[in-house]
Amino acid sequence: MTKQFTFELNATDGAARTGVIHTPRGDIRTPAFMPVGTAATVKGMLPESVRATGADIILGNTYHLMLRPGAERIARLGGLHAFMAWDGPILTDSGGFQVMSLAKLRKITEDGVRFQSHIDGANEFLSPERAMEIQRQLGSDIQMVLDECPAFPATETQIERSLALSMRWAERSKAAFGEQPGRACFGIVQGGVFPHLRQRSAEALIEIGFDGYAVGGLAVGEGQSAMFEVLDAAVPLLPADRPRYLMGVGKPDDIVGAVSRGIDMFDCVLPTRSGRNGQAFTRAGTLNLRNARHAEDTAPLDAECRCPACRKFSRAYLHHVVKANEIIASMLLTWHNLTYYQDLMSGLRAAISAGTLASYAADCARSWAAEVETLSD
Ligand SMILES: [Zn+2]
Repeated sequence: MTKQFTFELNATDGAARTGVIHTPRGDIRTPAFMPVGTAATVKGMLPESVRATGADIILGNTYHLMLRPGAERIARLGGLHAFMAWDGPILTDSGGFQVMSLAKLRKITEDGVRFQSHIDGANEFLSPERAMEIQRQLGSDIQMVLDECPAFPATETQIERSLALSMRWAERSKAAFGEQPGRACFGIVQGGVFPHLRQRSAEALIEIGFDGYAVGGLAVGEGQSAMFEVLDAAVPLLPADRPRYLMGVGKPDDIVGAVSRGIDMFDCVLPTRSGRNGQAFTRAGTLNLRNARHAEDTAPLDAECRCPACRKFSRAYLHHVVKANEIIASMLLTWHNLTYYQDLMSGLRAAISAGTLASYAADCARSWAAEVETLSD
């Protein structure tokens, strides 16, 4: 097994790419979807079940883990991989996004961000140096720089100021990451919905030099076409020999569109959170298992799916356990949604290898239109 973090590009189809990220903890086939394991668990799933869906890598959240149980405690317990019994690669975010979205009484200065924990109100501080120290203590394989995530919508002036701070923090984060053989540090392109600011951000990060490049601050309400516009502006500037990661995205059609634009990695809470809310992503579109039309439907959720929810149970059963708030409802629908996302990624990888991405994407869009129910989230 490799001792280094490397990215091998195997095939391209238009702007889309497929390849493998090699890490000492295992390979990551790209395009890759990373299930979100916020608090050292992918909610409702055993690690081996997450692996069985086809996931090569999962994501952990610095913000949640620093507050509970604490990065120092996880380090004493052998690091995040041992603690949560996941031996594959782990990517951790820097905590910046959750500080902005969850914490109370935030105060941002050049130095970092002071905030109150949303759990117990304790005073906390996160700087680029502290965010990297926490990720090192967790033992994360891919560590993200601390950036400021401005709220949407924001003016161009606000975004420009925030971007300048994020680029200074990116430089400090890279210095704090130091040398960690086999692990990677990714920069994050910011700049809101302004293509020229996105380009400025990409250029600044490339100047610093990172093992991979993320696009952040999207899927915050700007809409899919604005998101694709940002990708069209920023992605072509990113080095072809480094992985590209679109943070926090998205719905299946967002992922297909972003892969077509050259993105290699994704994470999103949608498959897991929607699963806990009784919602399913299938080859025929999005379904809400709460709806009465499923009450006596003996068909499987998705006839082509290999997951236990689809092989062993009917839509009628899933409707019943969702309505009754049974724990197995969350487990089965999470399992299904993660399986569906991984099968979509596998289909994308095969299509790019075969040079048939455009027809694969068109087939997906056609089949998603078959059954669409409104999702509540
Ligand atoms: Zn399934």
